[in-house]
Amino acid sequence: VISYIGIGSNLGDRNSIITSALKEVAKIKDLKILKKSYIYENPASINCETRNEWSKSFLNMAIKISSQGLTPEELLNTLKEIEKKLGRLKSVKWAARTLDLDLLYIQKTSVSTDRLTVPHKELKNRNFVTAPLRDLDVNLCVNGDYTLNLNRSLQNPLPVWMGIANLTPDSFSDGGKLKGPNSFLETLEAWSKSGVHLIDIGAESTRPGAKPITPKEEQRRLLPTLQIYKSFQSSHSNTPALSLDSRNFETIKSCLKFKPKTINDVSGLSDIRILDLIKDSDCDYVLMHSLSVPADLNKTFNKILTTQDATKNIMQWLEAKLELIDKKNISLDRIIFDPGIGFGKTPLQSIELIRSIKKYQNKNLRLMCGHSRKSFMTSFSGNKPSSRDFESVGISLALAKAGVDFLRVHEPEKHIKTHLGFLYAH
Ligand code: ADP
Ligand code: MG
Repeated sequence: VISYIGIGSNLGDRNSIITSALKEVAKIKDLKILKKSYIYENPASINCETRNEWSKSFLNMAIKISSQGLTPEELLNTLKEIEKKLGRLKSVKWAARTLDLDLLYIQKTSVSTDRLTVPHKELKNRNFVTAPLRDLDVNLCVNGDYTLNLNRSLQNPLPVWMGIANLTPDSFSDGGKLKGPNSFLETLEAWSKSGVHLIDIGAESTRPGAKPITPKEEQRRLLPTLQIYKSFQSSHSNTPALSLDSRNFETIKSCLKFKPKTINDVSGLSDIRILDLIKDSDCDYVLMHSLSVPADLNKTFNKILTTQDATKNIMQWLEAKLELIDKKNISLDRIIFDPGIGFGKTPLQSIELIRSIKKYQNKNLRLMCGHSRKSFMTSFSGNKPSSRDFESVGISLALAKAGVDFLRVHEPEKHIKTHLGFLYAH
C-alpha cells in the first residue's frame, strides 16, 4: 500500500528531530520510504491561544512510503509511538510540538473514524502539506484535485528554492566568485543551514556575449566540484539536492553518476539525444524556452509583439517540445517548464512575462522562473547585476505568491529569509 506521511517540527533542534523521525519510520517492519520531499520552513499557525514561545516557525516535509500488512489505524499508532519516543509533549492543542506525524493520504483508501480521517482533513488547506506532496507526486489526485494545482490555489503557495552556483570565470553577475574548493564548501554549508532546496551547478556562462566552451572544458571545471559536493552530501544532512546546469549531451552523460535531481538545460532541448539520458535516469528535466544560447540581444522576439502573441509563440514552442518528450515515453511529471526570462525577450517582454506568469500554469507541468539579477531590471535597478538583489527578491515574492513552483536565484538565503517574513505577514 502506498501512503503519504507529513512530518513537522517546531521545537528544539528541528532538523535533527526530522532526521531522527525519518530513521524511526524507516525502521517500521515491512515499510519502505520511497521518496522524500524538500523541507519547508513555514510560520506556525497563530491564534488567540498561542503563546509567544510557540510561534516559532515549523519545518515541514512529507514522505511517500509503501507498507505491507499495516492497517491505517496501526500505522497511525506506530506514528504516535514515534512522536512520543522523540519527545512530543502531551499538551494543549496549539502548543509547539517537537514532532508531528500525520497520515496525509493512502492510495485508494478513505477512513473516517473518531481517531483517524484519511485523506487528512486539512490536506487541501495547508501549504506545508500541498508543497511537499507536489514534490512527491506532481499529479497525485486527491478527491478530484491535483496536488500541483492545490498548492497553487492557496493564499501562500510554497516554492522550491534553487540557488545558482556558477563555476565560471565569466558569468554575468557572479563570475569568478566561487574560487576554489573552500568557497564552494562555505556556500554548501551556508545553504544547507538556511534550507536551500537545490544547488544548480553550472560551468558555462550563457549571458549575452559569452563564449561557448567545449564539453571537455566544461567537465574539467565541473567534475572536481561535483566530487566535493558528493563527499559533503554523504557527511551532512539537509544538503541542497544537486541540479546540473548544462546543455551538453557529453557533459550530462559524464555527470549522471553524481545522481543529480534535476538537469537544467537552458538550450531547451537543442540536442534531442539528451532525452535518452533523461529516460535512463531518475532526473527531472528543466526545459527552458530560448531563441538562442548564449543569449543574443539581437535575437529577440519582435519588439512590437504583444504579450499575448509572445505567450502564444512560447506555448507553441512548448507543445512541440512536449511532443518529442512524449514520443520518448518520458512522463511529463518529470518536466519542469521555464519560460526563459531574458532569453529572446526584450526587457519589457520579460517584465510582462513575469506579470502574466499564471498563463503558463495551464499545463500540468511544474513551472520555474529564473529572473534573478537579469538585465531587464536595468530600467529600474543598478547597472551592475550583483547590485540587483533587492529587486530580484521583490520579484521572487510576487512569483511565489503567483504559485511558481521553482525559483532559481542568486544568494538564495536572502530570498528565503525575506519570503519567510512575507509569510508571517499574511
Ligand atoms: P495536528 O496534527 O492536526 O496538528 P494532532 O497531531 O494533535 O494535531 O492530532 C490530533 C488527533 O488527530 C490525533 O490524536 C489523531 O487521532 C487525529 N487524527 C485524525 N486524522 C488523522 C490523520 N490523518 N493523521 C494523524 N492524526 C489524525
Ligand atoms: Mg498530528
